[in-house]
Amino acid sequence: MPELDENARRNLSFWHATASQPPLPPLADDIDVDVAIVGGGFTGLWTAYYLKALDPGLEVAIAEANFPGYGASGRNGGWAVGEMAGMATRFADPATRESAIRLQRAMFQTVDEIGRVTREEGIDCHYAKGGTVNLATAPAYEEHLRAEVGHWASLGFGKEDFRWLEADEVAQRIRSPKARGALFSPHCAAVHPFRLVSGLVDVLGRKGVQIFSGTPATQIEKGKVTTPNGDIKASMVVQATEAYTDSLPGHRRQLLPFYSMMIATEPLSPEIWDEIGLEARETFGDPRRMVIYGQRTADDRIAFGARGGYLFGSKIRSEFSPDEKVFEEARRSLEELFPVLEGVGVTHRWGGALGIPRDWRPVVGIDRRAGRAWAGGYVGEGVAATNLAGRTLADLILEQDSPRVDLPWVGPSFGKWEPEPLRWLGVGIMNRLGDRLDGRELAGEPASRVLSSVYDWIVKK
Ligand SMILES: Cc1cc2nc3c(=O)[nH]c(=O)nc-3n(C[C@H](O)[C@H](O)[C@H](O)COP(=O)(O)OP(=O)(O)OC[C@H]3O[C@@H](n4cnc5c(N)ncnc54)[C@H](O)[C@@H]3O)c2cc1C
Repeated sequence: MPELDENARRNLSFWHATASQPPLPPLADDIDVDVAIVGGGFTGLWTAYYLKALDPGLEVAIAEANFPGYGASGRNGGWAVGEMAGMATRFADPATRESAIRLQRAMFQTVDEIGRVTREEGIDCHYAKGGTVNLATAPAYEEHLRAEVGHWASLGFGKEDFRWLEADEVAQRIRSPKARGALFSPHCAAVHPFRLVSGLVDVLGRKGVQIFSGTPATQIEKGKVTTPNGDIKASMVVQATEAYTDSLPGHRRQLLPFYSMMIATEPLSPEIWDEIGLEARETFGDPRRMVIYGQRTADDRIAFGARGGYLFGSKIRSEFSPDEKVFEEARRSLEELFPVLEGVGVTHRWGGALGIPRDWRPVVGIDRRAGRAWAGGYVGEGVAATNLAGRTLADLILEQDSPRVDLPWVGPSFGKWEPEPLRWLGVGIMNRLGDRLDGRELAGEPASRVLSSVYDWIVKK
């Protein structure tokens, strides 16, 4: 993979264009460390951070194919959200409900933990814990979200975790003519993701972690990571490659790379912000299957995302043309929420790949005998979950008796997705069907719920 020059880096996303990171050298020789980490996204960086917090003398090296924050961690919507993919099936099963509730609480706490670390380490990533507003923009979504409030309450989560806002209460936070009400949760912070990445890189450098850019792992074996210009020998190797995992020999079909696409507007005038609100920088979206998510940035733009798609053969794409239809669709969705935005300039358009495991459940794991540990499969909710994963990996590697090591996502590595063309056909059919039935009912139930049940059934087969 050729190294990107400064200009190409800045073109990757709005976040890359508005934060810098000093260049880091590639690995040029064999080295010997205690822990080698493959992948310089949030998973790898947080793991290194907590390893050094537990044992400052530990020698840790990170091999990153491009530069830290090249992947999803530098390109995302910046929602450090206290939610995690795959929780619905954990809550639904009486055998796993209690442990799932513990995991959920640990995720809430993780949003504050990111705030704590960034404050204490002086990482200025524009962290603002304004909560998240899930807008009921259609009658079916209102029904769905009201039911969700009831569902959380039945699991023991109170109004301090999730509460329904009537339309007039929503308007105190965010003003959209489409909002019929909203589900509000305080457990979310807006961040500038690439500033968070680069801040962590800086802190890790000061703590003595060696980070190598332009250093792709071509093979991971027991005790050794092979890269083009040298090997990293280590008794423990952490795999933190998320959507790019497919390209590692022996790890094909573990995580499906799925694209999410984003736009950023020009900075908006105070008059426009008076009409929209979001004074506390609450993140916002609605429950449509297409997935939309937005944040008010610290420099008063809206960064807004929408689902992209999957490419045959798990192909990884790194370049996106600004003319792609999906960007226009995202803009239309944003204008539907806030008609006052009609005609404002969109200054940045980009995309990125997130990783989806076959059962949609992220995992953290370790195999001591093989000298290997891993974490990933966060789907589109990894900004905060990677922090919990990093803390948990550090605990597991250093054999700490912490409340994290028996959380229910600690377990075996990922199952395998089907070979092509089944994978492509399956994902495509579920997406088309989901979009067509979005907001409708099937047999008296919201179609999204019926489709999820069908999906869960397929996954279990
Ligand atoms: C557009 C978009 C929007 C999103 N929005 C949100 C959001 O708002 N909130 C949220 O919670 N989540 C969001 N996500 C998901 C979230 O960004 C990810 O879950 C999270 O960043 C995953 O971090 P990671 O470190 O595991 O993976 P990544 O950040 O993808 O890092 C993996 C790294 O490994 C490197 N790598 C790959 N192969 C090799 C190799 N062979 N050798 C060495 N290095 C290698 C890559 O270059 C990459 O830097 C979004 C994702 C995208 C794409």
